[in-house]
Amino acid sequence: MKDIAINENYVRLGKVRSVIRDLFEYGNAVRAREGADKVFDFSLGNPCVPPPEELNAVLRELIETCDPVTLHGYTSAQGAENVRRAVADYINSNFGDNVTADTVYMTCGAAAAIVITLCALCNPGDEVITFSPCFPEYGVFAGQAGAKLVAVPAKEGTFAPDIDALQNALGAKTKAVLINSPNIPAGVVYSEEEVSRLCAALRAHSQKLGRPVWLVSDEPYRELVYGDTKVPYAMNFYDDSIVCYSFSKSLSVPGERIGYVAVNRRAAREEDVYAAVCGAGRALGYVCAPSLFQQAAARLLGKTSDVSVYAANRDRLADILRGCGFEAVTPRGAFYLFVKSPEPSAAAFSERAKSYGLLLVPGDGFGCKGYVRIAYCVSPQTVERSAPAFAALAKSYGLPRI
Ligand code: PLP
Repeated sequence: MKDIAINENYVRLGKVRSVIRDLFEYGNAVRAREGADKVFDFSLGNPCVPPPEELNAVLRELIETCDPVTLHGYTSAQGAENVRRAVADYINSNFGDNVTADTVYMTCGAAAAIVITLCALCNPGDEVITFSPCFPEYGVFAGQAGAKLVAVPAKEGTFAPDIDALQNALGAKTKAVLINSPNIPAGVVYSEEEVSRLCAALRAHSQKLGRPVWLVSDEPYRELVYGDTKVPYAMNFYDDSIVCYSFSKSLSVPGERIGYVAVNRRAAREEDVYAAVCGAGRALGYVCAPSLFQQAAARLLGKTSDVSVYAANRDRLADILRGCGFEAVTPRGAFYLFVKSPEPSAAAFSERAKSYGLLLVPGDGFGCKGYVRIAYCVSPQTVERSAPAFAALAKSYGLPRI
């Protein structure tokens, strides 16, 4: 049976277990064996806040008033026309006049949006640059597009994008730069000045190459920001840009798989780029995103679940961690804290944290050694109850209490 030829790349991808999933399964096993109060699960970015009240009302209304054959039927491959129009109108009235219904493609979440976009843009041998630490799946998505992901380290300590380093990494093979703001795993939000500088660098490099270097903006955390933080809209800064959006986190519906690709209507070869997005969606089998949730999302544009819970968790957890002597950057968006490991190996730190019931993800998978990620999209009670466990973990390293 050994010499049956199948795609060994996919065999490998299917077999390599994600550290995040491993920790999550470990937590489930401890919960089942010893009780839910024995584990503080900060592993997974699964929102703890329920979807907004309006979601149920909208779903009920859709089910009660729409023709069921249409509502549950195939939509156009790129998404229902009324939904794409609603998305385009929302973007144009809230951010800038950047898209039309004919440059929006509905997808199964941001994951599908990114892989479709990279497949639409890249040819074998191309490079896609991103800042690390980053979403671990970026490498998989770039690989699917035949491209190589080049990770440029963000600034040490703050994890702000290092535009000078990016400039040095731009080369003859660079096809796109993939950014994520608010970002995982450090909760960094790019400032207007950083986005402007980044786009100026891309513009200069595009000019030098005589073809566009694309800007792909992955925005599943767009609405999850704290205080007066503003998220600059990438398309307003750069014409050759594509936004990959998801409703997973804003509406707390990650299991429903809904998001979109939006191509800037001012992009070079915009019609062909959109055609390539449609073609990639077709080739990958990502046509007709879930119809019921296309319609629901179109009616809930701009609505969010109660994100104040994440703000409160962030503040309390930052206090707990600093009080115990841990170092972390205060996130300005998303719902993750990136905490410096008190020993060189984040895997060893994560392993020791497990013995205190704390599930913290080593940062190596995000492309940054020596840190762990804490997903604080958990209940405020979990955050509060975890305080003694963090204190005991810190004490085991002899960290100074503040
Ligand atoms: N991009 C980033 C940065 C993410 O954190 C995630 C999910 O956690 C995704 C993309 C994929 O999101 P979706 O659930 O919409 O596919």
